[in-house]
Amino acid sequence: MFEAIQLALNEDIILVAFGDMLRVPVNVKKNKTRTLAEAKAQGADIRPIASPTEAVKIAKQNPDMPVVFFAAGFETTTAPVAAMLVEGVPDNLSVLLSGRLTWPAVAMLLDSGEAGFDALVAPGHVATVMGPEEWQFVVDRHNMPAAIAGFTTESLLAAMYSVLRQLIDGRYFLDNCYPDLVRKGGNPSARAQLKKAFNVGDAKWRGVGIIANSGYSIRDEYQQHDARRHFPDYADDARKRAGEMPPGCDCAGVVLGKIYPNECRLYGKACVPRNPIGPCMVSDEGACRIWWANGMREAAVQKGSGRPVSLPIHERIKATAGQENHPEWCGPGCWIQALHLPSCTNTQSARLGAQFIRPG
Ligand code: SF4
Repeated sequence: MFEAIQLALNEDIILVAFGDMLRVPVNVKKNKTRTLAEAKAQGADIRPIASPTEAVKIAKQNPDMPVVFFAAGFETTTAPVAAMLVEGVPDNLSVLLSGRLTWPAVAMLLDSGEAGFDALVAPGHVATVMGPEEWQFVVDRHNMPAAIAGFTTESLLAAMYSVLRQLIDGRYFLDNCYPDLVRKGGNPSARAQLKKAFNVGDAKWRGVGIIANSGYSIRDEYQQHDARRHFPDYADDARKRAGEMPPGCDCAGVVLGKIYPNECRLYGKACVPRNPIGPCMVSDEGACRIWWANGMREAAVQKGSGRPVSLPIHERIKATAGQENHPEWCGPGCWIQALHLPSCTNTQSARLGAQFIRPG
């Protein structure tokens, strides 16, 4: 992020980036430029895009200008960037790649023995590309329930129902609750393009540190389109403070499942969607933003003490375990109701249970 901001400010280029990147802040002094949006307001030529094809179009429309595509994201975002490179791009287009793989981060967390969760709802959009098998290690290596969920209420609810039921039954398996789109093996074509365009290696995660085999880098065959080779000075390690979380921001804890968003002491106070302090409050997919958008407006931190005012949700759920014999889990003690899911009703969860819950 810092590299992208500095490139846009200091080089005579057009920088294109996915729209939600423009407001992601870096950790610099208050009088310095914190976001791409601020850099744009200062005159840098920064253009938000929604897909790699737009980057190609802008490069073709501006053949005399270097165009740098700041491509940050996970497998689903990175796969189209790989396809773009493999299919060929204009000479003046280069990629500043910040692509990450999701499963190594979860594996690192589970291996550490400090995961703050008892079951995993895995990302369906990633599994659509990489295949559901990537998440099998959660069950096999860590003896933990796992379910894959997509971007629908039904799929999310089914995945939560599945892992909770697995926990109660003590029978763990990987449940694909997004079967319309997630198929065995994922998307072979997208995976082939990822392999062709990128290497996988150790990568730094903001606020977390280095995670083995969790990052993509551009293969030598495409080096003429690697922005880091054109502008090597901006990857200077001395600037690493900018890549850390802003003071007081607990995004790393939120992303690693160690705390809930409203346990961050800045949540809802200094940090709100209008004025995000950390990346989790920026885009619609950020954990803090999701909590805020869905009405969780109260900080869970006791004033002055820094301690949560109530038990974390998973502890509250555990506390209901004595009532797990309820026939449909939809009376007092129902774990799904304990999650305060407004769409959970007796009939809906029973229907979802019948539709999705099956032994592995
Ligand atoms: S509320 Fe979330 S995004 Fe904001 S500072 Fe805290 S952890 Fe970071």
